[in-house]
Amino acid sequence: MTPLRAAILACCAFGGALLFAINEGEPRAASGIIATPSRPPQRGDIKRAAPHRRSYLGELLLHHDSVVMRWPERTTHPITVWIRAEAAVPDWNPDVVTEVHEALAEWEATGIPVRFAFIDDSASADVRITWVDRFAERVSGRTFWTRDDAHYVTEGIVELARHHAWGAPLDLASIHALALHEIGHVLGLDHTSDADAIMAPRVRSRSLTAADISTMRALYALPAGPLSR
Ligand SMILES: [Zn+2]
Repeated sequence: MTPLRAAILACCAFGGALLFAINEGEPRAASGIIATPSRPPQRGDIKRAAPHRRSYLGELLLHHDSVVMRWPERTTHPITVWIRAEAAVPDWNPDVVTEVHEALAEWEATGIPVRFAFIDDSASADVRITWVDRFAERVSGRTFWTRDDAHYVTEGIVELARHHAWGAPLDLASIHALALHEIGHVLGLDHTSDADAIMAPRVRSRSLTAADISTMRALYALPAGPLSR
């Protein structure tokens, strides 16, 4: 039986330093995938990118000082992801990895020009996802990301808790929601005041909302960089 009130997941996300430079031309978006102009983003682009009232793109840009930050197009050259397949944390099992796989697939399905490829070599992965028993603070997940000087994300590190800070294990639905939230950060989203969204700082939703999807799509319809006035 589904509990009447799902646990609320808290999250922290941290920005990173400029570590790497983009060193290759990215392929153009394929048909059916969002394509973006190769020039600095302009204010008029926002309306075209986010025609839906439910998008929280405006709030996102406010948090980021009007700078669009996201991955470059990664369709034919997928973002490589390494998920720690074993962990010395109590209650870990392969089902939690399945939830992360499904969360990545859900973000892919939004139509953004990003694909994920899973690899076994953690050192060469663009995104590394690991597990912790529990955080000392009242959070359930953390994301660290780095970007280059063109405001493209270049690397992400996600830590997912297996247990709430008070000790109870996170159920699979919560792991799924948490993975959706943290991967949202990796892809360039920030927290929103929309408490129903998966990107709320205290996650109540267990799935992507229309606002999450339209905001992510809007983000990838904009070129990276500071918004020109
Ligand atoms: Zn967060």
